[in-house]
Order: sequence, then C-alpha cells, then structure tokens
Amino acid sequence: SAEEVTAHYLETIGKSKINGYITVSDKALEQAKRIDSEGHNGPLAGVPIAIKDNISVAGLPNSCGSKILEGYVPPFNAHVIEKLLEAGAVILGKTNMDEFAMGSSTETSYYGPTANPWDLERVPGGSSGGSTAVVAAGEAPFALGSDTGGSIRCPAAFCGVVGLKPTYGAVSRHGVVAYANSLEQIGPIANNVTDIAVLMDVIAGYDHRDSTSIDCEIEYQKALVDNVKGLKIGVPKEFLGEGTHPDIEKAVWNAIHKFESLGATWEEVSMPNIKYALASYYIIAMSEASSNLARFDGTRYGFRGSGENWHAMVSKTRAEGFGKEVKRRILLGTYALSAGYHDKYYLKALKVRTLVKQDFDSVSSKFDVLMAPTTPNPAFKIGEKIEDPLTLYLSDVNTCPINLAGVPSISVPCGFTDGLPIGLQIIGRPFDEPTVLRAAYTFE
Ligand code: GLN
Repeated sequence: SAEEVTAHYLETIGKSKINGYITVSDKALEQAKRIDSEGHNGPLAGVPIAIKDNISVAGLPNSCGSKILEGYVPPFNAHVIEKLLEAGAVILGKTNMDEFAMGSSTETSYYGPTANPWDLERVPGGSSGGSTAVVAAGEAPFALGSDTGGSIRCPAAFCGVVGLKPTYGAVSRHGVVAYANSLEQIGPIANNVTDIAVLMDVIAGYDHRDSTSIDCEIEYQKALVDNVKGLKIGVPKEFLGEGTHPDIEKAVWNAIHKFESLGATWEEVSMPNIKYALASYYIIAMSEASSNLARFDGTRYGFRGSGENWHAMVSKTRAEGFGKEVKRRILLGTYALSAGYHDKYYLKALKVRTLVKQDFDSVSSKFDVLMAPTTPNPAFKIGEKIEDPLTLYLSDVNTCPINLAGVPSISVPCGFTDGLPIGLQIIGRPFDEPTVLRAAYTFE
C-alpha cells in the first residue's frame, strides 16, 4: 500500500547519514493513507517523491538552502507539484541544495553540505545534490531538481543516478524560485530511464502561467524503445581531452563504442564556440540572479534583519540572510549590468550565447544526438574546492553550454573511477527528448 511504501522511506530517511533533506513532510503518511482509501488510480498513485527546496509545495517550507527564506512557507503549489499530486504522488519532503541553486557541490547551503552516498567524505555534486543523493541512497525512489547550468546532470553523474534537463519550455517553471530564468528547467532524477520517462509524462506540458511554456505534445514513455540501429552520434571534441579525467574519457568512449556495436554510427565534430560558453554562462546567470534576488528584502518573505528604518532593515536582512557565494554573484551580476559595462559584459555574453546556439544548430542536421562526459572530473572531497570559486565553476564546463542553447540532455551512469560513478551526457535537438530517452534506455 501507499502507506507501507511511504512508511518504509520515512524510516530510511530517519537513519540517514547524508543530510539530503532540509524538511521531511509531516503530512506524507496522511497523504499516503488518503491515496489508499480513495483507491487513487493515477500513474503515480502512492509513489513517494522528494522535491528540491526551490520548488514550491503548499504548506512546506521553501528555503532555497538560504537563511533569507527561513520561516517562509509558500501558500501555493508549483505547476509540477499540482501535476504530481493529481497523478497520486506522495511528497516525502524538500531536499538540500546550494543556496539559490548557485553551486556545483551542495556546499553553499545554509543547512550544511549533503554527503555523497558512495563516499561520505565527498560532495554529491550540485546544486540539486540533495535530490540526487536521496535517490542514490534509497531515501526516495524519484526526485525533482532544477538545472540552470548543470544542477541536475552534475549531481546525477556524481551520485550514479539518471537526471534529465528537459528542453527549455518543456516543463513549466511556475512555482520554482528563479535563479536565472532564461536558462533553468525543472527536471526528473531517478534510478533508471523508464522512471524518468514516467515522471516526464506527468510533469511536462503547457502551462499558461509560464510565458516560456511551449504547447507541444510529447509521449515520453512511448520513446522507450530498445533499439539504436542507425542512430547518428556526434562526438564534439571540445567536450573531451584537456582537463578531462582519463578514466572519464575512457568510460565515455567505451559507451560510444557500445552504441556502435548496437548499430549506431559516430563521428567526431567540432563546435568551435563551446570554449566561450562557460564565461558567457556565468555572466548571464549572475546578471539574471542579481535582478531576481532583489525581491528578498525582508519585507515580504522569510528572515528579517533589524534596523531603525527601511534602508537599514533591508541592508541588515541581505547582509545577514545571504551567504558568500550568493553575495559574490549579486555583486558581479550588478556590475555586468551597470551603465557603462552592460555592453561590454552582458551584451557580449548574449552574443556569445547566440554563437553557442548556432554551433548546436549547425550539427543538428547531421546528428541525432551528441555524446560527452557530464563532468570532467568525478565527485571531489567536501571542502576541497569551496574556497576557489573559479575551479568550482569549471565543473560546469560540459553542462552549461546545453542551457545556453536550451536543448535537452540526460546524464546516465557509464562506469566508475576509484569507486566513484561517471556520467555520460546524451544531448538532443530541441523537443527531441524521445530520441535522447531511446538512446539512454537502450544503453542502460
Ligand atoms: N553550478 C552552476 C552554477 O552555479 C549551475 C547551477 C544550476 O544549474 N542551478 O550556476
């Protein structure tokens, strides 16, 4: 029964060693009992799910891993949560994340880091590290994350699970707390590709409350066909080589050769503007973040600092409420958008974004999918990179180009190095998740 399944997960969460959840729902059992007594027959009837703590669930705290949202409880459900509840899912709780989804390690959370279940001294990746770690640790069968520059795929790779960043516009962003609107998508995290497709059939689709939502009917589970005969794979050389761990490079080539043995063909290709993607991504993401985070002023949500007048209160709230990485990004983003520098940084980054998109467009007529490592390195030690933001930003070098272009990409496990999982990234054409899922399904 839904009650038994939910009770099992709550018990496992109770013994957790990874700090994957910020909030465990006290309503989960009650919800499960209701589903049993109603005889709910939705596609996810009684299936528990964990939700990243930047996606609004009515009645559960939504902290975004930040002190500034301490005590804030959203009064409404995100679009994806409405869909999950209609389908009969049981919300287990809200998962840990880098503060406002800014990071690649889940170490910038106000609630402390999450540990990687494969090695408790290592990070789970980020920013959706809580969501992927709880799936990998058996503390939830499914989870939702958000991916602005790699935040679903990087932790999926580090934790040895599957994570999909859908095409921009495929899943409504209504109810996700915005970090960088033009880049982010909500997406599913699970133990296998079938579960990813089941979740996509529930959460994807048009929503009038998100002006970037696209009305496009896709049947995700129908794509689960075990056949890649004739599939044309492009291997962009900019994603491999220098800076990539040799075992990761080897595992990705082994995967490509496995596809070949199953009837696919591959060819190396060059995407010359990819090398500028990381710089462009960080300018755009920080610029959008500096604008989005202006709303946290102590007046409307969560934590409020004390001050004798409004200015003092706002400045105290933001000084005490935001962590170091968030402040760094607000400062850099404000600088990139300011008069005199706007053309030099922000506009230039947008032009580079167009070039990156053109690189993807130009290979899309030739290849059905592209394949690359999800991350150049496996999970690193907690504390190893946190004082060196530029090194940390390099973790996103293979994932952020995909967000600039808005195309779909999945990370699937493809091997191990020193006992740590490696992720293969399968990148598709816009709204061609079916081909991406078919390839991933055949591979796993
Ligand atoms: N690590 C990237 C960043 O810090 C991506 C984060 C994300 O996808 N939310 O911006």
